Amino acid sequence: MNGDLQAPAEPGTVSEAECYQRLRAHLAFLNLADAAAALPRVLDQARTSKLPLINTLEALLAVEVTATEERKLTSRLRFACLPSPWRLTDFDFSAQPGIDEALIRDLATLRFIDEGANVLLIGPPGVGKTMLAVGLARAGAEAGHRVYFTTAADLAARCRKAAIEGRWASQMRFYAGPRFLAIDELGYLPLAADAAAALFQVINTRYTNGSSTLITTNVGIGSWATAFGNDPIVAAAMLDRLLHRGVVVAIDGPSYRLRSHQARAENLRTGTEVKPHASR
Ligand code: ADP
Ligand code: MG
Repeated sequence: MNGDLQAPAEPGTVSEAECYQRLRAHLAFLNLADAAAALPRVLDQARTSKLPLINTLEALLAVEVTATEERKLTSRLRFACLPSPWRLTDFDFSAQPGIDEALIRDLATLRFIDEGANVLLIGPPGVGKTMLAVGLARAGAEAGHRVYFTTAADLAARCRKAAIEGRWASQMRFYAGPRFLAIDELGYLPLAADAAAALFQVINTRYTNGSSTLITTNVGIGSWATAFGNDPIVAAAMLDRLLHRGVVVAIDGPSYRLRSHQARAENLRTGTEVKPHASR
């Protein structure tokens, strides 16, 4: 490259070295730092492979686009507050016979986010509700959606604090913002009346906006009326919004957490338990 850079300039034209410096300055001015850093390499490659100008420009801008996408994804994932690194591909369907695999695979296409549909994951502890919620949230963030993950208890606590501090409206805007909001563990802890009202407002605002809300709960739909804030009307109104454009995933299989315990218990029962120091 350097040989070419030294070529004398035609009168009235800009020398290649000068042009190169200007190009670097343009890239820096436009905050295209990754393209600026890649410029020498891309130009060298273009010369070596005799790439047409259009391909060279594309290669240079592709460097910046890739780096920007990575930065945006990192920032979306940081914002999302996922409690664990699980992905949908980590979910072992053979270990959970109580789940509709086709339904989960359909959710994994994320069409429900585009349609503003809600998801209710209902089942007892340990069946993989949080894992699926995290996996869907991560997939959403990776697909470019603004995603936020929280628990019902955390949402209730933040709303209560916001109400006391006079920040209710901005707290509601915060929960209304993400394209996909996952609220984990509804029903694990009793929900006070003000918490149930806050949750209803979040669900209702998001329903009106057409944004997706996913809720995981151990409470079957039939028991919602008595489970939340002792207010059957609020519970019915929440369910009404959630189910109108909603998918219900009921998981009634065995607890994954208790699998190893159950296997041990079964082995003990049938006398096939392998002793730690048993000879082979
Ligand atoms: P829940 O939220 O229903 O109580 P979790 O999603 O927290 O259950 O799952 C409990 C544990 O079991 C987690 O460590 C999770 O990764 C694991 N787990 C549950 N179901 C599966 C599955 N089908 N495949 C792999 N791991 C699973
Ligand atoms: Mg859970």
